[in-house]
Amino acid sequence: MKDPSELIRGDEVIHLTSDLVKIPSENPPGEEEEAAEFVAEYLKALGFSIEIYEVLPKRPNVVARLKGSEGRPVLMLNGHLDVVPAGERTAWSFNPYSGAIKDGRVLGRGSADMKGGLAAMLVAAKTLVEQDFRLKGDLVISAVMDEESMGSGASSLVDRGVKADMAVIGEPTNLEIQRAHKGTLWLEITTRGVSGHSSRITSSGKDGPVNAVFKMAKLVSTLEDHLKTLEARRNNVVGNPTVNVGRIDGGLKVNMVPDICRIEVDRRLVPGESPEKARAEIESLVKTLSSSDPWFKAEVRVVSQREAAEVAESERVVSACKQAVKAVKGIDAKVGGFTATSDMSIFVNKGRTPTVILGPGRLEQAHVVDEYVDASQVVDAAKIYARIAVDVLG
Ligand SMILES: [Zn+2]
Repeated sequence: MKDPSELIRGDEVIHLTSDLVKIPSENPPGEEEEAAEFVAEYLKALGFSIEIYEVLPKRPNVVARLKGSEGRPVLMLNGHLDVVPAGERTAWSFNPYSGAIKDGRVLGRGSADMKGGLAAMLVAAKTLVEQDFRLKGDLVISAVMDEESMGSGASSLVDRGVKADMAVIGEPTNLEIQRAHKGTLWLEITTRGVSGHSSRITSSGKDGPVNAVFKMAKLVSTLEDHLKTLEARRNNVVGNPTVNVGRIDGGLKVNMVPDICRIEVDRRLVPGESPEKARAEIESLVKTLSSSDPWFKAEVRVVSQREAAEVAESERVVSACKQAVKAVKGIDAKVGGFTATSDMSIFVNKGRTPTVILGPGRLEQAHVVDEYVDASQVVDAAKIYARIAVDVLG
C-alpha cells in the first residue's frame, strides 16, 4: 500500500495552520462559530458528512464522518476550536492574529494550542481522500468548543452518542504520546469563629472570641502534612498526587478577632483516585481537627472537579501512534502523561473511548504571549495522523 505520510504536502499544512490562526476564536467569551464553519466547509468539500450543532448559542461543535466500506472500527481525531484570549496586544511582539509564517514557525494565538493540530488533521484527511485510500473503518473528525473552560463541547459530543473505538487528541505534546493525565479537585474551605475585641482573645476559646485564622492555620499545616502522604502515592505515568493551598483570606483589622477565614485548595488527582475519595480524605482531616478541638468549625465546598484519565500502554491506539511516530520521525516516541487537564478525561471516563493525546507544538508555548508552533511539527503531525488512520482503518 502507498505510504500516506509521503503524500502530505507540507506547505499546505503550514498555510492551513496560518489560515486557522487568522480566525480568532477566543474563549472567554466563546467565539468559536466562524472557526467551526471553516472546518465544516473544509471537510464537506472532501465528501465528509457534516453535523454542525450549537452546544450553546452561536457556539457549535463540528462532527464530520468519512464512511468506510465496513463502518468499523471508528477512529476519531479530535481538536478544540477555542483559544485562550490574546490579552493585551502591546505585550506581543507581533499581531497575535496575522498568522504570519516566519523562520520556520507559524506565529499567533492558538498556533500551538491547537490550530496546528487541527490543521494537521484536516490535511491528513484531505490526503487520504484525494489519494483514494479506501478505508474499511469510519474516520470521524470532531472539532469542539469550550475546551479551554469547562469542556462542555466534548461532554456534549459524548451525550449526543458520538462514539469511536479509539481517539487521538491533537493538543500540543511536542509529538510525544500521552496516555494519561491528572485530574483536579478545587475546594473552598471556610473556618468559622466568634468575632470580638482582640484584647479578649484566650487560648482556650472559653467565654471569649474564637479566632478563625488560628483555626485555619491548623488545617493549613495539616494539609502540608497531607502532601507528604500524597507524595508517597506514585503513578508511573503522571507522577504523584498533590495538594496546594493557593489562596487564603481572613480578618479585617489588627485589633479584631476574625470570625471567618477561607482558603482555596487545588488537589491534583492521579489515575485511580476519584475526586470523591480525595474530598472524603480532606473532610476526614477536618473531622479529626474538630474532634480534638470543640471550637474548630469548618465547611468544605467543591468548586470544580475533573477526573484523571489513563489508558493502558497495550491499547491499540497507543501502538498505532507509536508505529506512526516511528515511521515518520524515525525515532521511538516518548510515551508519558499530560501535565495539564484536557478533554481526554471526558472521552475516557464518560465516553469509555481509549484516547491518547499526540500533537504538534509544546505545552510551554500554549497560553503565553508570542505563541508559535514549529512548522516542521505541524507537517510531521499531518503525516502521523494520516498513517494512524490508514493503519487503524485501512
Ligand atoms: Zn488545548
